[in-house]
Amino acid sequence: MKFPATQNSILPIRSFIVLLIGCLAINLSLCFSSFPSSIKTLNVEGHFSFDNNEFAARDFGNRFRFLPSAVLHPKSVSDIATIIKHIWQKGPGSKLTVAARGHGHSLQGQAQAPQGIVINMESLSGQEMKVHTGRFPYVDVWAGELWINILHECLKFGLAPKSWTDYLHLTVGGTLSNAGISGQAFRHGPQISNVHQLEVVTGKGEVTICSEEQNADLFHGVLGGLGQFGIITRARISLEPAPKMVKWIRVLYSDFSTFARDQEYLISTQNTFDYVEGLVIINKTGLINNWRSSFNLQDPVQASQFKSDGRTLFCLELTKNFNPGEADKIDQEIDSLLSRLSYIPSMLFMSEASYVEFLDRVHAAEIKLRSKGLWDLPHPWLNLLVPKSKIHSFAERVFGNILTDTNNGPVLVYPANKSKWDNRTSFVLPEEDIFYLVAFLPQAVPLSTENDGLEPLLSLNKRILDYCEEAHLGVKQYLPYYTTQEEWRAHFGQQWEVFARRKSAYDPLAILAPGQRIFQKAISNL
Ligand code: FAD
Repeated sequence: MKFPATQNSILPIRSFIVLLIGCLAINLSLCFSSFPSSIKTLNVEGHFSFDNNEFAARDFGNRFRFLPSAVLHPKSVSDIATIIKHIWQKGPGSKLTVAARGHGHSLQGQAQAPQGIVINMESLSGQEMKVHTGRFPYVDVWAGELWINILHECLKFGLAPKSWTDYLHLTVGGTLSNAGISGQAFRHGPQISNVHQLEVVTGKGEVTICSEEQNADLFHGVLGGLGQFGIITRARISLEPAPKMVKWIRVLYSDFSTFARDQEYLISTQNTFDYVEGLVIINKTGLINNWRSSFNLQDPVQASQFKSDGRTLFCLELTKNFNPGEADKIDQEIDSLLSRLSYIPSMLFMSEASYVEFLDRVHAAEIKLRSKGLWDLPHPWLNLLVPKSKIHSFAERVFGNILTDTNNGPVLVYPANKSKWDNRTSFVLPEEDIFYLVAFLPQAVPLSTENDGLEPLLSLNKRILDYCEEAHLGVKQYLPYYTTQEEWRAHFGQQWEVFARRKSAYDPLAILAPGQRIFQKAISNL
């Protein structure tokens, strides 16, 4: 069939327009895609994924979602170094940034890289861990390893790391980039105080071993460094003999001052408990019955008279480690320690658990929450470090006033000794010798307009932060979240200069950890 003359003459013009639009589209996508094809040709042992990367745009906070252009699943340290070096060599001409992703348990997109490359650090886990026994035992691990796996491996040698987080399904690289704090920190310091050596890939793609003795500035910078100076690929972690069992104790207080005084006593005295934490309980019902399923009440008759409903209570949580055969001796030590405390006498709950069961306790809660579809809800958490001299004003204003119930998630309060922290690391602490970790850990019910909805919980956090600011409490955020560099400068205070100097030394183009929103990637006009 022949086209009429007019149509015949239009055809080439139409084809040309289609071609032009096609070329424009290709060019535009090349212009706007920040992912250079040269990266795809790099020689890596692992692989890149360009599709189905939604997991890398998610985290535990479940509020921020930025898709990367690609995810690298490395098989070796040199895969990580190759990719970073390539971006570094491209200079400010490339927009690409790189985020290490541990287990993605950040709260506000800190392990995400909008349009950049996420490195899935867990691809490097599951490889051999080397436990070194002897007088000063340690374990060499990959940074993408979960702490729970490290615990199981070390227990084969009767050993365990000294300092923990409350939840062990987090990676070594993720917690060392923050601090790693739990109820053992008062004795051993945080996890960042219990590391001998690191292997780090800097923002220039250099693989560097660092420790107190070697490249000490990088070593200290990376610890608590929010991923800003390098990607930790391996760590050497200090170990101690592991106990088999723990005595697990909870006692209740109705008065914050007495509760805090006892906590401070326990973290300052010798031969004390092995773990000291605390919980605030506001307006909760059925508390004692809930605990009864896993704890024995020492005085059930007296306890049955006690009405917890609606009151603000403070629970001191303690453990004492022991091995079979030592139970009697440990019971005596516990009795002696408890006799020096001023809790409500009938409110003493005792239990025994294996060391693993105790350390992995939050995972047991995770399994229950997952089965009800409640683990993947938004988590507007707020973690604060409050100086000892201000904790009483803080408690008076916040517990029972700004915060009127704790039904949306636990609120932890416990003190730590600053002397167990190393002030050469990047971690920022309040100015006093003792400070409290106060952790508000709620989950938000989607679409709820009640107090358990996301917006009311976020405005509650804001009210708490505003109060801290107005009352000049000298509070620092843990797992900090800020959106402007001005706020970051204020957070770091006098440490900002060192932090910024380290950034220009180890990651001058600001390629690493863009999700922390501290520095902007240097970009020239393309
Ligand atoms: P990710 O979220 O994947 O990463 C966190 C940050 O570190 C990101 O900026 C990322 O880019 C960077 N990063 C990750 N890996 C590396 C690496 N190898 N090298 C350099 N940078 C890296 N914290 C405590 O201190 N104590 C607790 O008791 C505690 N309990 C928690 C309980 C739960 C249920 C959850 C969800 C979190 C808890 N946290 C606690 C917070 C936790 O320590 C941090 O969220 C930590 O960052 C999570 O580790 P991750 O492996 O998931 O890291």
